[in-house]
Amino acid sequence: MNEHYPFINPPLPYAYDDLEPFIDKKTMELHHDRHLQTYVNNLNAVLKDYPEYQGLSLTQLLLYPDILPASIRTAVKNNAGGVYNHIFFFSTLQKPSAAQPDNALTAGITRQFGSMGAFQKAFSDAALSVFGSGYTWLVRTSHGQLKIITTANQDTPLPGNMCPILTLDVWEHAYYLKHYNKRADYISNWFYVINWKQADKNYSRCRA
Ligand code: MN
Repeated sequence: MNEHYPFINPPLPYAYDDLEPFIDKKTMELHHDRHLQTYVNNLNAVLKDYPEYQGLSLTQLLLYPDILPASIRTAVKNNAGGVYNHIFFFSTLQKPSAAQPDNALTAGITRQFGSMGAFQKAFSDAALSVFGSGYTWLVRTSHGQLKIITTANQDTPLPGNMCPILTLDVWEHAYYLKHYNKRADYISNWFYVINWKQADKNYSRCRA
């Protein structure tokens, strides 16, 4: 996320229909081409007249909002968050795969939560508990612990000094076309399309 203004919408690292039948093609098209694109467009529009902040990366914009003028702070936070969260979310999905790789992350999850099943239960409960729009995350805290957290709207874990490993977008636009109002079904389907290899890479980056 070291890119800076003008921000772009990177293509999905898989085909729109690769996550079928768990997440449908139409949802992925709209989610990537319209929802994420809108955050990209809005962020660029906000920064257009502020060349002095156009060299800041997405992460810097989110980590250091206080350096921005108050007049654009909220708009930058919401739209940079929307860009960051969606790119991160999309990057941790993949074609359904039966094999769960054993790696440092799965070992860390087992250590922290007792078992992969216990982690899934805790993550699902957290995702169901998000009131309104937001995200559920697996993060590494500054003390080196794995933790499940939730964020509202397009807030990110970054200002809390937490390093993101995995996230689930629970805004209704992420699931309504296929799962209607049944967020629980969407959450249980999501577990089939998690890109654990990418999540493990994120975990390594968090520990570096
Ligand atoms: Mn979304």
